[in-house]
Amino acid sequence: MKSKGLLVVLSGPSGVGKGTVRHALFETDTNHDQFYYSVSATTRQPRPGEEHGKDYFFVDRDKFEEMIDEERLLEYAEYVGNYYGTPLQYVEEMTNEGKDVFLEIEVQGALQVKRRMPDGVFIFLAPPTMHELESRIVNRGTDAPDVIEKRMHQAREELQLVTQYDYVVENDNVDAAVKRIQTIINAEHLKTDRF
Ligand code: 5GP
Repeated sequence: MKSKGLLVVLSGPSGVGKGTVRHALFETDTNHDQFYYSVSATTRQPRPGEEHGKDYFFVDRDKFEEMIDEERLLEYAEYVGNYYGTPLQYVEEMTNEGKDVFLEIEVQGALQVKRRMPDGVFIFLAPPTMHELESRIVNRGTDAPDVIEKRMHQAREELQLVTQYDYVVENDNVDAAVKRIQTIINAEHLKTDRF
């Protein structure tokens, strides 16, 4: 019998570079058949260049709340005034077909997934230092000083939760972080596929 695919959850504080690492990881999958990205639903507005169904399923609050009520989300969280959540059906279908599904989500959501699907592979992407994290958020240039202070406060709290994860990957360099994640996934496959 073919074993179930892995559910790989990449999480970590805002500004650590989860999105960049995820994009670089998917670029290494040149045949587009190794990982399947779970597209989240969100109530935030699309940014320029973002596509419905590819980057996110962009929905309004009523629709999102309907998905919550109908238990169609594996997890969800409210983040900076918007909802974000993972559609359950896709994760279940793909992993049952033996495919690896990859989630890139914030920390509250990752901990909900861990409670519901403890067999997942939970990876915390960590900044090299808090000072470096702050520089990245400042250099993004999108946040006012009080918002930066709130994000840093939240990041410090999130860093307290690393012990709940299976792995911590330092994002000192994107290519190095991608290689570390690939090594983790290969090792997890040996565990589940071999025996
Ligand atoms: P952004 O608005 O920058 O695309 O995402 C904001 C945050 O929401 C990021 O930390 C991202 O990882 C997280 N996020 C994206 N999709 C989901 C999701 O489905 N669930 C949760 N809990 N967080 C998500």
